[in-house]
Amino acid sequence: MTDCLFCRIVARESSADIEYEDDRVVAFKDIYPKAPLHVLVVPKRHIDGIQTMERGDAEDIGRCLYAARQIAERAGYGDRGYRVTVNCGAEGGQQVYHVHFHLVAGRRGTRA
Ligand code: 5GP
Ligand code: ZN
Repeated sequence: MTDCLFCRIVARESSADIEYEDDRVVAFKDIYPKAPLHVLVVPKRHIDGIQTMERGDAEDIGRCLYAARQIAERAGYGDRGYRVTVNCGAEGGQQVYHVHFHLVAGRRGTRA
């Protein structure tokens, strides 16, 4: 049993509200949603974060972004728009060290 929370969710050892799954990616609702749609999109293969990603991780990272597009469109936000963000490291606000993209939609928020 891994001590990574998101690896456990990927392996269905911890429960989550799964929104999307394919061969490389899993997406599930954030437990503390900050907007009407707030989904975390993660690669099935463990990568700590963008700050440690290697060239060989680029495919999985890109697949997360493509999955985010599909989830957003299925949820009806294709035309309205949405945000996809990633927190990187301690001062970037990262709390869970399995890379994840926040897909947030349905509420206007602050801009980077
Ligand atoms: P970070 O700050 O690392 O970018 O984001 C971590 C996110 O994971 C937070 O938005 C937090 O609400 C969410 N989170 C933390 N624990 C759990 C959990 O057990 N299940 C789910 N679904 N989300 C979680
Ligand atoms: Zn992990």
